[in-house]
Amino acid sequence: MTDIQIFDPRLQRILNPDSRLEQLCTGAEWGEGPVWIGEQSCVVWSDIPNNRMLRWSAEEGLSVFRQPAHFSNGNYRDREGRLVTCEHGRRCISRTERDGRVEVLVDRYQGARLNSPNDLVVKSDGSIWFSDPAYGIMSDREGYLAESEQDGCHVYRFDPLSHELSRVANDFEKPNGLAFSPDETLLYVSDTSASHAEDGCHHLRVFDVLDGRRLVNGRLFAVIEPGLPDGFRVDQQGWLYVSSQDSIQVYAPDGCLLGKILVPEKISNCTFGGAEGNRLFITASTSLYAITLNTRGCQS
Ligand code: MG
Repeated sequence: MTDIQIFDPRLQRILNPDSRLEQLCTGAEWGEGPVWIGEQSCVVWSDIPNNRMLRWSAEEGLSVFRQPAHFSNGNYRDREGRLVTCEHGRRCISRTERDGRVEVLVDRYQGARLNSPNDLVVKSDGSIWFSDPAYGIMSDREGYLAESEQDGCHVYRFDPLSHELSRVANDFEKPNGLAFSPDETLLYVSDTSASHAEDGCHHLRVFDVLDGRRLVNGRLFAVIEPGLPDGFRVDQQGWLYVSSQDSIQVYAPDGCLLGKILVPEKISNCTFGGAEGNRLFITASTSLYAITLNTRGCQS
């Protein structure tokens, strides 16, 4: 039986007798950025230090999806089903076209190179919202050692039609994961700067989305312990599934920690998928895990 800690009885709503954590495969060095590809019934994610992307399906198991992969990190699908990827190596957001070409969408803000885009989410209007911490240029382990050309680590919105890139938040230390509420009136963003400074942040903030394109009224949503809130997802009822050192922490939109799904490896990211959309796939260090829940993701 999976070890699930219940702090609030509401958590029972998403649990059923099949809610059992499974290790699907292992062999990554550090996995991040899982995305569900429904047409192929597979998960694709990044194994950053090995500069490759991996693929897992129930039928075919584990295989290499792309290598080299420009030290890819976060992945998402746009409204046309194309894979959109954060790349540390080219310090860009790329998109995989239907013919297989991998095209750079954006790699500069006001003429200066981005740091190393980390994670992203695509809004229903097609705009791409992403974080740009410096992890991919701090060493040659997850990218290429380089100087930052930006004045900090910020959050951006990119419109792939107009090619307009705008900063939507500039008061983070190390912005990382992002997710919208189901109605897209809120954007949650994590800050993981505590991994490099004892007094850094390891929390989630939430913003109001104004006019569908700006962020206002940023405030603390939850401090995540132990470890760091890297990537996370929101389900259809607005609950958050947040990575941490030892578990997926489940939060209600009011900030209440409802419970924890314990995972035996340090967690980076998670995403909903499966034929019914009710499987939570979890990248945790070397392995891919999944658990079936009584809920579905609100985004792809
Ligand atoms: Mg991340």
